[in-house]
Amino acid sequence: MIKTKATGPIPPGYSAIDGELAIGGQKASALVAENGSPLFVYSSSRLDARMAQLRTAMPDALDLHYAMKANPFPPLLRHMVGLADGIDIASGGELRMALDAGAAAEHISFAGPGKRDDELEQAIRAGVTINIESPSECDRALRIGTNLGTTPRLAIRVNPDFDLKGSGMKMGGGAKPFGMDIELVAPTVKRILDAGADWRGFHIFAGSQALSADAIIETQAQTLELAARLATMVGQAPDHVNLGGGFGIPYFPGDEPVDIEMVGNALSEQFERLPDILASTQFAIELGRYLVGEAGVYLTQIVDRKESQGHIFLVTDGGLHHQLAASGNFGTVVRRNYPAAIASRFEEEPSETVSIVGCLCTPLDRLSDNAAMPEAHVGDIVAIFCAGAYGASASPANFLGQGPAKEILVD
Ligand SMILES: *Cc1c(COP(=O)(O)O)cnc(C)c1O
Repeated sequence: MIKTKATGPIPPGYSAIDGELAIGGQKASALVAENGSPLFVYSSSRLDARMAQLRTAMPDALDLHYAMKANPFPPLLRHMVGLADGIDIASGGELRMALDAGAAAEHISFAGPGKRDDELEQAIRAGVTINIESPSECDRALRIGTNLGTTPRLAIRVNPDFDLKGSGMKMGGGAKPFGMDIELVAPTVKRILDAGADWRGFHIFAGSQALSADAIIETQAQTLELAARLATMVGQAPDHVNLGGGFGIPYFPGDEPVDIEMVGNALSEQFERLPDILASTQFAIELGRYLVGEAGVYLTQIVDRKESQGHIFLVTDGGLHHQLAASGNFGTVVRRNYPAAIASRFEEEPSETVSIVGCLCTPLDRLSDNAAMPEAHVGDIVAIFCAGAYGASASPANFLGQGPAKEILVD
C-alpha cells in the first residue's frame, strides 16, 4: 500500500462547470483547447476581490503597493496598476515594464541590491523613488543625479535588527546584502540632504511568506518603532515609510490564511498612537504573493500514464521549468505538495494514489507526490493552484529547451 501524502488547501471560491474546474467562467478543457498546454490562467476578478478585502481590513491611511516581481505578466501588471497605490520594482527591466503598464513614476519605488549605474540613471531620469541599499550606492545615485542635472528621489532601505518570525524567507536581522545597517542610516540621510537630493524616507522589509497574524503584528510594531528611532537620529520626519509586507498564502497541508482583520486592527491602533515624529508620515506596505498568488492556476495536460513497481505516474507536458516552487526546488527544505487537482475531473472523488510529474528528464521534476486523485488518463488536465506568484517568472523556462508556458488573464 502506498501511503498517500496530503496536498495543500485549494484556495476557496473555485467552482466547476460540467464537472470541470472553471476559472473566470471558463472550464479548464476550453481554456486549454483555445490556448494550449501548459497554461497559466490568472483571474482578474479574484485580483479585484483580494484587493477589496485587504483595503477593508487595513487602515484607510495605509497605501497598498504591489511588488511586481511576484508576477510581471503585462496584462496582470496593468490590472494591478489600476488596483494598487504603488508598484515596487527590483530592476531596470521591471521599471520599464511598470512604466509601460501605466504606473506613474511618483508611485514607483525601486529596491534591490546591485543596482547598476544604467539602472540608477534610468530610475533617476524617470523620477521614481530609489531605495538606497548602501552608502556607496548612495554616492553613485547622487553623482548620476548631478551629471543628469536631475534631483534624485532617495529613500533608505534599512537592514532591520529583527526579522519576521515564521517567515519563509528572512530578509532582515543579522548580516544581509539587503539594506544598510542601522548605524549607517543617519549619516547617509545627511549626505542626501547635504547634496540637495529629495530624501523620501525609509523602506524596512523584514521577511516574506508569514501566515501568523501575531508575527506580522509584532514585526509592524517593531518596524514603526525603528522608523521613529531612525527619524529621531536623523532629526527630521520622513515623508514616507514602507513597512514591508510578508503576508503569506497557504500552500501546504495545515497552512491557515493570515487573519488580515486582526493585522489591520492592530495596525490601526498603532497608527492612533504614533510618536510625534511620524505624525505626518505616509505609510505603505508592499505585497507580492498575497495579492496575486491565489489568483493563478497552472494547467498542464497528461501525456502519459504509467506504472513503476506499483506506483502510478501521471506524466504531464508541464513541470518545474514553469513551477519551480511547486516542485519543491525554490527555497524549501522538505518537499511538500502544493494544492493540486485533476481539473478535468474536478468534482470526482479521489480513487487512487498517484505521483504527478513533469516532462523533464530529472527526478527533481515532481508536481505532486503520492496524492489522492480521481482516476485520470492521457488528455486529462492537471491544475496546480497558488500559481499566480513566482511561477512563470521565477522558473527556469529554458531548461531542457522547453520554453515558457503561455499566460492569460481572464475574468
Ligand atoms: C520580494 C519582495 C517583496 C514581495 O514579497 P512577497 O513574499 O511576494 O510578498 C516585497 N518587498 C521586497 C523588498 C521584496 O524583495
